[in-house]
Amino acid sequence: MSVNNQPFSLKIIKKCPVCAHDYNQQSMQILSESELGFLTYLSCKFCGANLLTKFSPAPHGLIGNAILTDLKAQEVLDFAVGDDLSADEVLVINQEIYKNNLIKQFRSLI
Ligand SMILES: [Zn+2]
Repeated sequence: MSVNNQPFSLKIIKKCPVCAHDYNQQSMQILSESELGFLTYLSCKFCGANLLTKFSPAPHGLIGNAILTDLKAQEVLDFAVGDDLSADEVLVINQEIYKNNLIKQFRSLI
């Protein structure tokens, strides 16, 4: 799926949910894009609220999930587009949760 073929989809978010000013559509950044959808980032120049929206393809169009964030675009990228957890890592975390050790483990990392 290509963002360039669907310019209309980027106009879904017209107004800042915090201050209701119109967004400047040019300021929208596409952080990542794949067959699973794309992740966009918008900063409101009036109130500074940052809106992170994940668009996913659905049978009848796109589904958008938006959240407000304090993170900067680069910080979102650092977290969202990193390597996925491996099955082994998930298993280890699970075991630690069962042993009630997770918080202790985190503390030992700090
Ligand atoms: Zn705003």
